[in-house]
Order: sequence, then C-alpha cells, then structure tokens
Amino acid sequence: MAGLLFILSAPSGSGKSTLVSQLRSMVPNLDFSVSYTTRAPRGSEQEGREYHFIQRDQFQQMIAGDEFLEHADVFGNYYGTARCSLEQATARGNDLLLDIDVQGAAQVRHNMPQAITIFILPPNPDVLERRLRNRSRAEGGVEESVVQKRLATARHEIEKYHEYRYVLVNDVLDRAAEELSAIVIAERSSGPNPYVAQLTVSELLHYKKLALQCLLQNSATRLQPVLASFGLSLYSDVNQSQSRNWF
Ligand code: ADP
Ligand code: 5GP
Repeated sequence: MAGLLFILSAPSGSGKSTLVSQLRSMVPNLDFSVSYTTRAPRGSEQEGREYHFIQRDQFQQMIAGDEFLEHADVFGNYYGTARCSLEQATARGNDLLLDIDVQGAAQVRHNMPQAITIFILPPNPDVLERRLRNRSRAEGGVEESVVQKRLATARHEIEKYHEYRYVLVNDVLDRAAEELSAIVIAERSSGPNPYVAQLTVSELLHYKKLALQCLLQNSATRLQPVLASFGLSLYSDVNQSQSRNWF
C-alpha cells in the first residue's frame, strides 16, 4: 500500500531545511525526496544529499522524458521532484516528504489531492531577512542580490498559505519541530501504523491535540500578526473540508 505524502513549503530562509532534518531525527520511516536543481551548490551542500545538481539541458531532457512528478522555475533555476522518489518510498513502505515551492505544491495537490500539505511561516520579515543573511554569511558571504530576490518573493509565496492544510510559524525551533512531528504522527494515526501503535495513549493524545492546533482553520489567532507583519490579512474563506477528526 502507498504511504503518506507530506508536502512542506515556505519562503526561502524560513527554516524549512533545518526543520526537515530535525523532523527526520524525530520520526522514523519518513523518506526525504532529494530534488533535482539547475542551481549551483551552496556552502557545504553535497551532490545527492541536499540536491542532485544538474545542467539545464539535462533537466530539460528529464522534463521531456516525463520523469518529474512536478517541476518549477524558482528564482530563475529549475527545481523538480523525480517520480522515482515516490516509487522508492512506496517500495520501502515509507512515507515521503517533499520540500517544494508553492508552484510545485499546487501541481502535486492537483494530481494527488490526498497529499498532506504544510506551510511554514517565518515570524516576521525582519527575522526572515536576518536568517537569510546569517545563512549566506555561514556559507561564505552575503550575496545581496540573492537575499533581496528571496525577500521580494517571500510575500507572494506567503499569500498562498491558505492553500495548505496545516500552517506553522517557525519562531522557536524546537516547538516548530515538535508541531511538525505531531502532524506526521497524527496523520499516520488515521490508518494502521506500526510506529503509532508503539505510542502510549497519552502521547498520541498530545500529538493529535498539537496537530489540530496547527490546522489552517484553527490557526487564525496565531497567524494574524504574522501575516500583518508581511502586509497581508487573514484569508476568510477557509476550506473546512480539510478538517480532521481523530477523536
Ligand atoms: P530554508 O530551508 O527555509 O531556506 P534554512 O533551514 O536554511 O531555511 O534556515 C535559514 C537560516 O535560519 C539557517 O541559518 C538556520 O540555522 C536558521 N534557522 C532556522 N530555523 C530557525 C529558528 N527557529 N530560529 C533561529 N534560526 C533558525
Ligand atoms: P533553495 O535554493 O533555497 O534550496 O530552494 C529554493 C526554493 O526551491 C525553496 O522554496 C524550495 O522549497 C524549492 N524547491 C526545492 N526543491 C524543489 C522541487 O523539487 N520542486 C519545486 N517546485 N521546488 C523546489
């Protein structure tokens, strides 16, 4: 039987990669899809670990061969998820996690409406800018044009938050990581799952409550100030069909 498909999107610099690595150390049986990209490796990134780094003509050949589940042009480079990631996770009996942008998420959601979508927000634009700069510095130097391009795109990406089932604010890292784990565990609890079966009743209750708080329709109070800091307002027409009933 196919496992669950989790999609994570966030503006660049929000802390998505950091959260993904924390999540993977907290929950087992979760494969991470290593995307293909035409951008150059950054800092200590390694081929096959963060990305498969390929040339544009190779990427175009993969598009022509229908090898991508989704692909998009992000910041002037191609990024794409290989179909084989999903096949391999399924063969291993694992769930799969995609870290993809809002365009890619829309493509996957269209073809696979059962995908579990999670949007991560930075607390405000100042924090986002600081994280982008800190990361660039740690990777060997701040490229001002890259930081500015990513900041300018952030607001447009954040506008799409209401298309996701869950929305997190990555303020305190450990709390956001626990919320992310709670979502994975709560979603797994919808069906038989050997990992969830090992949890105590009170542990499972804790995770389900935490996950419910992160559902889009339960997040208005938490999201309102964050959205306002980006000059956006709460989206009033929330899709109630995304609600969950685990109790
Ligand atoms: P993304 O994958 O979304 O582009 P990263 O995971 O690379 O973002 O994080 C960007 C920077 O912010 C990194 O330097 C990371 O260490 C830092 N960071 C991530 N989450 C937090 C947090 N909750 N608090 C403080 N710094 C954070
Ligand atoms: P970065 O260059 O900072 O690693 O990533 C830039 C953006 O590309 C992020 O929003 C990230 O989620 C997105 N991204 C990474 N891999 C993929 C992918 O396979 N498909 C799509 N559509 N976006 C991706």
